[in-house]
Amino acid sequence: MIEERLKAVWKELPEQVRLVAVSKFHPAEQILEAYEAGQRRFGENHAQELAAKAEVLPKDIEWHFIGHLQTNKVKQVVPHAHMIHSVDSLRLLCEIDKQARRFDRHINCLLQLHVAQEETKFGFTPDEMLQMLDEGTWRTLDHVQLCGIMCMATNTDDVQQIRQEFQLARRTFDLAKQRYFADDDRFCERSMGMSDDYPIAIDEGATLVRIGTKIFGERTVKV
Ligand SMILES: *Cc1c(COP(=O)(O)O)cnc(C)c1O
Repeated sequence: MIEERLKAVWKELPEQVRLVAVSKFHPAEQILEAYEAGQRRFGENHAQELAAKAEVLPKDIEWHFIGHLQTNKVKQVVPHAHMIHSVDSLRLLCEIDKQARRFDRHINCLLQLHVAQEETKFGFTPDEMLQMLDEGTWRTLDHVQLCGIMCMATNTDDVQQIRQEFQLARRTFDLAKQRYFADDDRFCERSMGMSDDYPIAIDEGATLVRIGTKIFGERTVKV
């Protein structure tokens, strides 16, 4: 079942778009099923759950942390994460750098942009993100690599609204790229799109899509 759904999703992705299979709330056995079908990139949104799964699953899995991250949980995530998609403050970025140094790791980070019309979502507004980059403290952090942006669109049936939000994220990425990362090829990722909106995100330039429900089925707990 998982294998068939996974293959259906792979088939829809253009070459430049990579899949993060979002496995939060699904047991390790289901992740292993997807792993055996060939998927290596998985997304989790709770520090404890990521750590527990990483301990028991194959070591060549590339773990992506996609949930809101409190600074006191960073040390649980840093030993395992290949990339943290949800950096929403300079303070969090500094803490990731500090813990990455302790664990002798380098962590790829995406800046989360708040583009949705929902109070509950986290992230920098486009202006806040550009201000943070302009201020420059991030340049002194040598155990984190800024790789691009992540965003979530509003949970709505209004396709036009979703498209506009992805476009705003894309424009903000382009500005940041041009102003601060023109010489840094590693700043190249746009993590946009979930089960319900990833075709739109791909249209608007996603390089990473984060898909859970469409692969693993409904989660028993909604987050
Ligand atoms: C849960 C989650 C996803 C996946 O959502 P689905 O609708 O199940 O595909 C993607 N991104 C983030 C940040 C999430 O928390």
